[in-house]
Amino acid sequence: MMETELFQAVLNLQSPWKITKIDFISESRLLEIWIDFIPGSEFDCSKCFHQGCKGYDTEEKTWRHLNFFQYRCYLHCRVPRVTCPNCGVIQVDIPWARKKSGFSLLMESLILIMAMDMPISKVHLC
Ligand SMILES: [Zn+2]
Repeated sequence: MMETELFQAVLNLQSPWKITKIDFISESRLLEIWIDFIPGSEFDCSKCFHQGCKGYDTEEKTWRHLNFFQYRCYLHCRVPRVTCPNCGVIQVDIPWARKKSGFSLLMESLILIMAMDMPISKVHLC
């Protein structure tokens, strides 16, 4: 599907990450993108970098991403936790956001750039 490939390229998603669904809600000025991983994928431990950790469970998360023109954009994904032989059960790193952040990395960058030039109370995101 063309738009899936386009957004996958824009977000620089590499295997095993892939876009599974895109909702474009014109009247709400909203773009929602669902990202998932290929079932059975193995991941590196985010703490000790042990390779080939198997999936344990997942947790649904949402991040505010950069606007797509005048449309607010949110990313959704079930983020896997894996079983690492050294660290136990641990959440994997995802390429588009830091752990425990509700913003994508690009959104955080925009906020920091805006905050450098204006009082933080003047930084509006939508
Ligand atoms: Zn580990």
